Amino acid sequence: MRLEVTFKGSFPSLWKMPEGNLPQFAFIGRSNVGKSSLINMLTDRKKIAKVSKQPGKTQLINLFEVDEKWILVDLPGYGYAKESKKKRKNWEVMVNTYLKEAPVLHLAFVLIDSNIPPQQIDLDFINWLGTNGIPFSLVFTKTDRLVARKTAKNVEAFCEALLADWESLPPYFLASSISRAGRDEILSYIVSLDDQ
Ligand code: GDP
Repeated sequence: MRLEVTFKGSFPSLWKMPEGNLPQFAFIGRSNVGKSSLINMLTDRKKIAKVSKQPGKTQLINLFEVDEKWILVDLPGYGYAKESKKKRKNWEVMVNTYLKEAPVLHLAFVLIDSNIPPQQIDLDFINWLGTNGIPFSLVFTKTDRLVARKTAKNVEAFCEALLADWESLPPYFLASSISRAGRDEILSYIVSLDDQ
């Protein structure tokens, strides 16, 4: 699947973003979860989203238009330990406002590292989305790293932790920006929602 991707700019807040009717699909996760790599993999561009070696650096919302049909929203990551209180607050206001108020947000993909056991910060973020009625799916990243059995164990543990708070699980995907696993599934899912 070859996509037409156009960078539409970086914005400090929802209110500065250009208006438009195309449905938006947002990507978010803990710093270093593999978000930039996933966006590059999905869009088939080597450097469209910066694969940063300095987590927590980008504090802007990046927009990419795909096939003139939908907008990929690259939201800055959370949970970078060395971040100042002020920067964390700025992040919270920018991201929470976008997620709660964006009129054309269809879905947020929350990225979860499949190499580690469930992290409270991810569960808290997902619970926040749920309480605010924001539709989301999960993408487990870096699935090439561990043997399949260990990845499956982490995914299962995460799902179980979610089921402690929620009655059912959202759709989820297993992805790797190296093996390109999950690409077709995620893109087909976006197109299927977009067509509704
Ligand atoms: P971001 O901070 O969430 O945007 O994460 P990056 O995309 O910058 O990735 C963080 C680190 O994880 C980098 O060193 C990447 O090379 C590595 N990484 C990202 N995705 C994958 C993946 O699918 N497999 C493996 N093995 N490493 C990955």
